[in-house]
Amino acid sequence: MTEARIVIIGGGLTGLAAAKHLEQNGHECLILCAGTAVGGRVRTDRHETDRGTFLLDRGFQVYLDAYDEAGRMLDLEALELMPFYPGALVRFEGAFHRAADPFRKPIDAAKSFASPIASLGDKARLALLDQRIRRSSVDAIWSRPEHSTIDALTEAGFGEGVIERFFRPFFGGVFFDRSLQTSSRMLEFTYKHFATGSTCLPAGGMGAIPEQMASALRSEIRLNTPVARVDPESGELLMGDGSAISAERVILATDANAAAQLLGEKPSVPWNETATVYYDADPETVSAFGDEAILVLDGDGVGPVNHLCVPSAAAPRYAPQGRALVCANVVGAEVLSQHEGDGALDVAIREQMVNWLGEGARSWRHLETYRIPHALPRRVPGEFGLDLPRAMPRLSERVVQAGDHLTHGSIEGAMIAGRLAAETLLG
Ligand SMILES: Cc1cc2nc3c(=O)[nH]c(=O)nc-3n(C[C@H](O)[C@H](O)[C@H](O)COP(=O)(O)OP(=O)(O)OC[C@H]3O[C@@H](n4cnc5c(N)ncnc54)[C@H](O)[C@@H]3O)c2cc1C
Repeated sequence: MTEARIVIIGGGLTGLAAAKHLEQNGHECLILCAGTAVGGRVRTDRHETDRGTFLLDRGFQVYLDAYDEAGRMLDLEALELMPFYPGALVRFEGAFHRAADPFRKPIDAAKSFASPIASLGDKARLALLDQRIRRSSVDAIWSRPEHSTIDALTEAGFGEGVIERFFRPFFGGVFFDRSLQTSSRMLEFTYKHFATGSTCLPAGGMGAIPEQMASALRSEIRLNTPVARVDPESGELLMGDGSAISAERVILATDANAAAQLLGEKPSVPWNETATVYYDADPETVSAFGDEAILVLDGDGVGPVNHLCVPSAAAPRYAPQGRALVCANVVGAEVLSQHEGDGALDVAIREQMVNWLGEGARSWRHLETYRIPHALPRRVPGEFGLDLPRAMPRLSERVVQAGDHLTHGSIEGAMIAGRLAAETLLG
């Protein structure tokens, strides 16, 4: 049996963040990761075609540069963050309507003053909400009474129109939950970070984030190394290949389902689901979105695409010269179950895009479909509500558990979980 002092199971952002904090406290560790590369849910594939290379993130996601914990963890300059336009384009009743952030794009916001997306009363309510959330600390947000997002918006007086046209596709797309049952604390947390910073993509893809973290570590990382079982009392790890490792201390930093499996338990954390479908497009066919990278929302609620963007408009390396990468996102198990095969999903997406953009969308070349059933741990008030933990749970003297299911499903949440796990382990 191999012996090791500290073992981290999982090479996602939680595990990598834990390793960095342990190293800062003088402890190198052994990271065991089932994946072919580090990153877990944050990885970028290089997709080679006869036209050149596309960068495909495994599910559309963005980095918010207002993240505090992640900002301390990463070298943001080296990531070359490329920002999106601060606002969104809402497709509603046959036209695109710009919803601009009035603080950063006051002229655009003034131009869209009479748009049908939000009434004047809703705009005033949004300004109030905006001010309250901007001024709140993250600690204050976590300690506020918890409702569902939809209840919080309704109680704040927002009308059905703005909820359906803007809030449902926008936050439904952030949480992968179009029902908006997700905790109002998550609404405020994400709103705050969208409003106080930029929404970005690293120039080389989201996978550059874990790659940067891993390359800064001295600890050994073993890829393609699944652990099959963990005995919390003895610290013994049974490996997927039948061998064993005896660890003095362990951080169990897998996703919630894998953790349950490793401990011989039934998975108990519910998940929100999404799918991202990528296309190689002639830039002319997406010119209706304008020159800047902007998030496009389905304000009609007809779907299947809930939100869409052109990552290469923000970060040109996502597509080869002269081409555009289109990233169409479908949200929720219910919608996805209506389009079971990838072919059927592609046909439905193209129909919607022909309706939005004209016949040019038929010429898009399908690149890849990523279906992600376990995208974000579902956080709804009650059993799966959100609190700000001060430590990660100790399963025994030797084993500490960590992961975004114990904080919140985000890059920031995973980095916090990693730090807290290291602190808990070191006592
Ligand atoms: C499609 C999508 C979009 C998202 N969008 C955003 C966004 O825009 N902004 C944002 O902030 N967050 C976003 N998130 C959330 C964020 O990516 C996650 O919260 C975060 O990456 C979770 O990191 P983690 O390390 O806790 O878990 P994971 O990334 O799941 O890592 C777990 C690790 O454990 C390993 N593992 C599993 N089983 C075993 C085993 N038996 N043995 C060894 N290793 C094992 C896996 O290989 C993996 O490396 C998104 C997530 C998804 C999926």
